Amino acid sequence: MRLGLLLLASTCVFAQLPKERERARDVFVELIEINTTDSAGDNTQAAEAMAARFRAAGFPPADIQVLGPNPHKGNLVVRYRGTGAAKPILFIGHLDVVEARREDWSFDPFKFLEKDGYFYGRGAEDDKSGDAALVANFLRLKEEGFQPDRDLILALTSDEEGGDYNGAAWLLHTHRDLVDAAFCVNTDAGGGEFEHGRRIALSVQAAEKTFQSFKFEVKNKGGHSSLPVPDNAIYHLAGSLDAIQRYAFPVLLNPVSRGFFDRMSAIVGGQEGSDMKAVVQTPDLPGPVSRLSKIAYLNAMLRTTCVPTMLQAGDAENALPQDAVAIVNCRLVPGDSAQNVLSALTHTVHDMQVSITPLRPEVAGPASPIPDDFMKILESSSNSLWPGVPVVPVMETGATDGKYFRLAGIPTYGVSGFFYDIDDVRAHGRDERIGAESFFEGVEFYYRLMHALAK
Ligand SMILES: [Zn+2]
Repeated sequence: MRLGLLLLASTCVFAQLPKERERARDVFVELIEINTTDSAGDNTQAAEAMAARFRAAGFPPADIQVLGPNPHKGNLVVRYRGTGAAKPILFIGHLDVVEARREDWSFDPFKFLEKDGYFYGRGAEDDKSGDAALVANFLRLKEEGFQPDRDLILALTSDEEGGDYNGAAWLLHTHRDLVDAAFCVNTDAGGGEFEHGRRIALSVQAAEKTFQSFKFEVKNKGGHSSLPVPDNAIYHLAGSLDAIQRYAFPVLLNPVSRGFFDRMSAIVGGQEGSDMKAVVQTPDLPGPVSRLSKIAYLNAMLRTTCVPTMLQAGDAENALPQDAVAIVNCRLVPGDSAQNVLSALTHTVHDMQVSITPLRPEVAGPASPIPDDFMKILESSSNSLWPGVPVVPVMETGATDGKYFRLAGIPTYGVSGFFYDIDDVRAHGRDERIGAESFFEGVEFYYRLMHALAK
């Protein structure tokens, strides 16, 4: 994401015991070296490896469960018992990783590698660093005899990246009691951002957009291409896509995106900052809206977007097309609906020959407004490590498992404690990595956050 140009000088100074660094690194190495891809990997093996660590640390066996709908898609749920004074907090991460082919990488993606201050391996960023932070801190808190005021629940799940057995959805559907909580903290979203080596912000993902594709299709009787007529399937389809390109959905803000623009306005400053301030007050001011909309990320924060992503038409070089199809992929802001988008598209296209149908209807998730006391804890945990770095609420333009918990009525906050360079994002890509110090800092951030939230 782009967070403007203000550079905040900030260093991170904290003492971390060598023992804690070693523990977190050990867990991380073990997770990276267990292949958990959908094709050849085994989620259950990773879940069991972590379960063994919890058993060895003295967690009661009944509080450690590996369960799932498929032998290779096990999810780990661990309960750290508190006094019960308050409702539990759920911490989530996903164990599965996207595919990684040895020939695409500079080295084996399933062999942990430390090189030049970085830890490499598939899942180093997404999301095994988050899993390791959760596991290592549960073990550390237990060893320290920490007594929380509420149960802390850990859920490390399968198929966040795809596959048929999404563990978050499955646990909510079949074992709600195991993961039910006052709110959920997701390691797989939000997090710190470096730009040119400086820390810009720590973002908290408190809402996400909903993925919804539409199929545009035109059928025609066709004919010989030597005798063209204006009524052509490709012309109709092209005209409809042209109309979509020129259409902008109305600005629709929610408490999270409003909070984002509000906080960012002060960080960014200048014309962009005052435009951000203006849209928070009056969301439909044409000047500020059109200037902000030129920046892809800000445009996506302001409104629902739709864009053609696939195209197919015609059967032969010398025949008028009988069929033309496009897939238009939309990302809906919280509060929008597939029905609403369908009617906007139909109205915009304004051509009876173009049929528009939703693919795999999705249910839109609500935003999770951030309560003040939670924000204060986030800020103090962050400030104790990275003084002066602002904490900024964001709406994710992509999608995470957070949506299942939000839809189930559990407010969810994505806050990875790791800092990444915004110009070097390697999640899902080749030679995925995390800065070694960023990793250890993120682990410590989670320790402080858990401690503060649980008391
Ligand atoms: Zn992820």
